[in-house]
Amino acid sequence: MSVVVHSVRSAAAMVPRWMCVALLYTFTAVLGSAGGHDSQDKRSKAVWYRAKFDHEGSGLSNEQLRTVAAMEDMQHFRKMLAPILVPRVVGTEGHTRVRQHLVNTMNSLGWTVEEDRFDSNTPVGRKTFTNVIATLNPDAPRHLILACHYDSKLDREGEFIGATDSAVPCAMLLNLAFVMREVLSQHSKMCLKTVTKVNRRRTMKAKFKRRRRRKLKAKFKRRRKINSEFKRKKKKPDVQRNLPSGCTKAKKEMLLRKLRITSRSVNETWPGGDGGGPRDRHSWLRQLSYPFQPLRQLGRIKCCSDNGSQYEVSFIPSVQSDLTLRFIFIDGEEAFRLWSDTDSLYGARHMAANLEARAYPTNNAIGTNELHRMDLFVLLDLLGTADVKFFNYFEETSPWYMRLVSYERRLREMQLLHARKNYIFQNRDLFHAGIQDDHIPFLKRGVPVLHLIPMPFPKVWHKNTDREEALHYGTIESLNKLMRTFVADYLHLVL
Ligand SMILES: [Zn+2]
Repeated sequence: MSVVVHSVRSAAAMVPRWMCVALLYTFTAVLGSAGGHDSQDKRSKAVWYRAKFDHEGSGLSNEQLRTVAAMEDMQHFRKMLAPILVPRVVGTEGHTRVRQHLVNTMNSLGWTVEEDRFDSNTPVGRKTFTNVIATLNPDAPRHLILACHYDSKLDREGEFIGATDSAVPCAMLLNLAFVMREVLSQHSKMCLKTVTKVNRRRTMKAKFKRRRRRKLKAKFKRRRKINSEFKRKKKKPDVQRNLPSGCTKAKKEMLLRKLRITSRSVNETWPGGDGGGPRDRHSWLRQLSYPFQPLRQLGRIKCCSDNGSQYEVSFIPSVQSDLTLRFIFIDGEEAFRLWSDTDSLYGARHMAANLEARAYPTNNAIGTNELHRMDLFVLLDLLGTADVKFFNYFEETSPWYMRLVSYERRLREMQLLHARKNYIFQNRDLFHAGIQDDHIPFLKRGVPVLHLIPMPFPKVWHKNTDREEALHYGTIESLNKLMRTFVADYLHLVL
């Protein structure tokens, strides 16, 4: 990655994301006038590509933050990092071995892995590049993308390791998929739209059937009584219907409190400048307090029968069921000679153009393509040293950046992060930083980007000192926790 001055101009010329939607709408409207009555129907079937604009994080409670923080396994992180800490210039054996490590690890975790291979001319001859794409649930139309590059920079002595650039980000993704494997697999199952049910374990044998039926009858009677009493007091029929029988009233109320939609989040509607509030939406977002309580607490509770174990209630999120997590390990980020538009970002340029050209769903009439499946493109780069400071680089994704600002402060107040002088996520904008990195080809095509790269770059950047000795594992641990928090919040994981 590099910083160039002219990129400020190109950033201004980029197509904003609303344009992409507006174009689609125009296209749909044209189709509508030509194609007749079924256009409305077609558009309503394609709401998945607009869902990202209304999407909100679930908000994590303190208890959930503790759960996410406790999923720590730095030993596993080091195990994932070690095979990547080698020179891995495109076309070398080290490069192939690192790619194999990424592919094998993601395969072993049950993700769907694709290798996007292509040839391209470079200043040092024709090279074969391979992007590695791992998807948690390939059936889901929408993707939260976490991306980093896995190639290393070519240097004459062949000693450049690139521990921060970007071995650590790659290992962070592998580690996240491993330590969160249970909640993630639960989420990917939920994407299959499991029906909400009250399961009753069948523990009695056939000869007791009649006796059991009698008992159940009495139980249902009791349940009806409790429910009707309860309904009179509170009107939350959706949740109540799913509560198990055998609950005492007090227990039910406690569960409902847990499930209740409560507080605010950073995505609340801006009240406008007239009411004495800040004039622009952005500075209003700044003033909001942390997303302390869950906006929506969807999940699974185990409760609460006569013997304490017979019933299980599942609340399955239906709104987010079309969303999943996808990792992109990008190849050929580094320039072979001098950074330029043609000698850099080989993998990202190829992939963005390729995805844009592929219709999704295939043969759809409204013009949506694979790029529309990207809810948010989170790019991690140059991570691993202690001197890391992020800024808010893109106004469009400010609400998501602000959530990370909030979560870092909360985790720190709860003393769950490694001690440090300043915050990692600075509560400040840096909108025209002009950083050239793998996000550029996607950003130019209207994909919302969140760039997690320190400013200034680490001192070891593009030096042979960018090796394991430069790493600070305490900071990496904090970054891992923050990434997990973000993923859990974005995907509405059940913790
Ligand atoms: Zn680099």
